[in-house]
Amino acid sequence: MAYWQRTIACGALREEHVGQEVVLNGWVHRVRTFGDLVFIDLRDRTGLVQVVVDRSDVPHLIETANALRTEYVLSLRGLVRLRKPGTENPKLATGNVEIAAQQIEILNTAKTLPFPLNDEDQMRTVDETLRVKHRYLDLRRPKMMRILELRHRVVKLIRDLLDAEGFLEIETPILTKSTPEGARDYLVPYRLQPGLFYALPQSPQQYKQLLMVAGCERYFQIARCFRDEAQRADRQPEFTQLDVEMSFVTQEDVLQIIEKVMTAVVQQLSEKRLLSTPFPRLTYDEALRLYGTDKPDLRFGLTLCDLTALAQETEFGVFRAAIEAGGQVKAVRYPQGAQLSRKEQEALGELVKEFGAKGLATIAVLEPTPQGVKSNIAKFFSADQMQRLLQLCEAEAGDLLCIVADANPKIVAESLSRLRLEIGKRCGLRNPDVLAFCFVTDFPLVQWNAEEQRWEAEHHPFTMPYEEHLPYFDTDPARIRAQCYDLVCNGQESASGSIRIHRADIQQKVFDLLGIGRERQQERFGHLLEAFSYGAPPHGGFAAGIDRLIMNLLDEPNIREVIAFPKMGLGYDPMMEAPSEVEEAQLIELGLRIIPRKS
Ligand code: ASP
Repeated sequence: MAYWQRTIACGALREEHVGQEVVLNGWVHRVRTFGDLVFIDLRDRTGLVQVVVDRSDVPHLIETANALRTEYVLSLRGLVRLRKPGTENPKLATGNVEIAAQQIEILNTAKTLPFPLNDEDQMRTVDETLRVKHRYLDLRRPKMMRILELRHRVVKLIRDLLDAEGFLEIETPILTKSTPEGARDYLVPYRLQPGLFYALPQSPQQYKQLLMVAGCERYFQIARCFRDEAQRADRQPEFTQLDVEMSFVTQEDVLQIIEKVMTAVVQQLSEKRLLSTPFPRLTYDEALRLYGTDKPDLRFGLTLCDLTALAQETEFGVFRAAIEAGGQVKAVRYPQGAQLSRKEQEALGELVKEFGAKGLATIAVLEPTPQGVKSNIAKFFSADQMQRLLQLCEAEAGDLLCIVADANPKIVAESLSRLRLEIGKRCGLRNPDVLAFCFVTDFPLVQWNAEEQRWEAEHHPFTMPYEEHLPYFDTDPARIRAQCYDLVCNGQESASGSIRIHRADIQQKVFDLLGIGRERQQERFGHLLEAFSYGAPPHGGFAAGIDRLIMNLLDEPNIREVIAFPKMGLGYDPMMEAPSEVEEAQLIELGLRIIPRKS
């Protein structure tokens, strides 16, 4: 079909174009008809502009204009003019001008849509599954188009930056073998030999290490990763990572690159402010001590204070029993929390109980003196002890000190870190305009899986332990710290990585510790071990979640909003209706038989 090609995009029109004749292509976003006068908001990818069809100027067009409906596709010729004084629309970038239509060609009509695209308030009430089922319509909304555009800009900036830093972008296979990222694999049956399966990559981890053995030195990829794990608001079965690997580097070199990428993205593509550059660094142990978590939200202070030594001196049996059982007593300050009602304080107690704590002890500080506190545990403290407690907590008048004691330090950490976040939220300290990045380093190499009675990798089995910690392999594996790091942003993991093991003897030690027997090592990782025996350079890298980065930049809590075609709950795609059944013949060809699930 021949039609007039646009001369300018709708969203680009400004006062400087007044007097010009233009051709626009786009969709009818909204149409208001007054019989002899019709207003059309014409939309393309770049934005909206108002078009006016006035019978007194263009009598031949009025019938066509009156027949227009939302989402009709138009090609339109007209004259750019200033809007009449008082009718400007400051909310629109094009709001000072309008197009006086001269010709309109309807390129296509549209049925009534399942949901309106021109009413964001109403959109909030539309069922998300319906939106995802008709994602090709949902994406027409200017809000969604802006997300796609930002995502494109972010990825392009990353590509350009890494190219300038000497990285090569290299694709790695999607049909591959299981990689130990810790989640369940998606499997693809192999037709030529029933019983064999490919696994979709949980990450390109082994390939990127093999690329280092291959001498690529600096690799990156905008990589799709597949993990079959429980869905959450910030998880999808497939997601995108910026995957990076570098040879002949120290941890410091890798951290510098991550920081450079993130800083550039935020400074060039976002209105948000970086709280601090260079990004602060905490070791894993420090993060746990100060914030109770390895993903601290550094937009605010309120660090946890350790009252264990002091509590041991007191008469308070509950505290002492927890400590004697190997536990801890720690506190977090709630500024102006002293005014909370008993009921509100109890609600805080309920919150810590959700994370395993037995309860919450509180001290309301009216004045930061032993006499100025109100608390039903005060009687167990001497004046001197209370004074020291107030000092340790740096208590101020009006504070509520919230204390958790437990025999299990993990429970103390987890419950107080959650409480700290809640206090930060209530006190308005989690400023959405700020991005507080920090590095957490020196993670433990392994953690004990009590259920399965075995050590498992904290990151993955290719992570290099500190050489001076090698003796702990035989004595106290929990003490081994690894050259492993996370980038955290506003309390969420944003990237993670490590320096890798490139020596076969250390790799074997780690596999042994993880209980992966020699035979299984060969079967699963023989290719890697062999590769490492042919001159593997020292190397390390990281992966950063692209979806999560976009969520952070936009304050978007739902990962589906930042993905063009997301899956809904349970991994279902309502648009393609996937997953779906396949033909019996296909199953036979693959040598598969479906065993109905017992309900
Ligand atoms: N492959 C790791 C992950 O996806 C990241 C890395 O170690 O580079 O978590």
